Amino acid sequence: MSFLVIATWEFALPGLKEAAQHLADNGSCLDAVEHVVKTVELNPDVESVGLGGFPNKEGVVELDAAIMRGKDLGFGAVVGVRQFIHPISIARKVMSDTPYCMLVGTGAEDFAQQHGFQKGELLTDQRRQEWLERKQRKSLADTGHDTIGVIALDLDGSMACGTSSSGLKMKHPGRVGDSPIIGAGLYADDDVGAAVATGVGEDIMRCCLCFYAVELMQQGKTPQQAAEATVTKAHTRLARTQKKIGNIALVCADNKGACGAAANHEGFGFCVASSDMQPRFMTVEPISSSE
Ligand code: ASP
Repeated sequence: MSFLVIATWEFALPGLKEAAQHLADNGSCLDAVEHVVKTVELNPDVESVGLGGFPNKEGVVELDAAIMRGKDLGFGAVVGVRQFIHPISIARKVMSDTPYCMLVGTGAEDFAQQHGFQKGELLTDQRRQEWLERKQRKSLADTGHDTIGVIALDLDGSMACGTSSSGLKMKHPGRVGDSPIIGAGLYADDDVGAAVATGVGEDIMRCCLCFYAVELMQQGKTPQQAAEATVTKAHTRLARTQKKIGNIALVCADNKGACGAAANHEGFGFCVASSDMQPRFMTVEPISSSE
């Protein structure tokens, strides 16, 4: 049995290196996923996740996060959470300690408070300044994005995945993207594999991107084939009825440790490490139907 950890974007690399060591030492896939996400949530330089995330149009940072356990399809998510440093850990608590899958807004915050999760100001001075400049320019919600999404396979053959995001810049308060939506922003099933997405949440959730990628792997496609076919199908379908299609990117992995990635835009990359591969960052060429 081999381990694998794969995550969206280059900012995942420091946490991914530590998670790879943890998995090599027989650590659990859930701990590996949570660890990578937490390192990104704590990094104030990442403008799309956790501390230092870009605020909504009212100047408030609102976070979405989710985690999924492939063994039993356990799922936990929190949506529109303010002032908590690690929404991924709150989502994990929802999964492990409640009969629910998702808590939203003040209900999620009360739950986090009751369970002693760390509170803090998420809006940094730099992001407040950028928000003020955008507000003065009347710059509306845009496609700036970069969700952290992580998949891990441990030496026991179990899989987990997780996501965390501050969503689109200048979003309407209460706007929710794909990141905490099961089947859209993430999905994991030990019988097959897992997938996580990043990009414009509205387009990703319209296509149930991650559930579809896992379904294709179940039907026999390799993770790379599944990633390309999923992004191609979503892009092609949206192009029939929409003038503008958002950025869509996906990484996936199967329960044997093979992985794949695809995007409909330039500039996407992911980090990966496994029993056979030292941690590294790799870039992805856009699918041809997006040209
Ligand atoms: N998918 C996220 C959202 O729409 C954005 C991102 O990938 O950063 O909220």
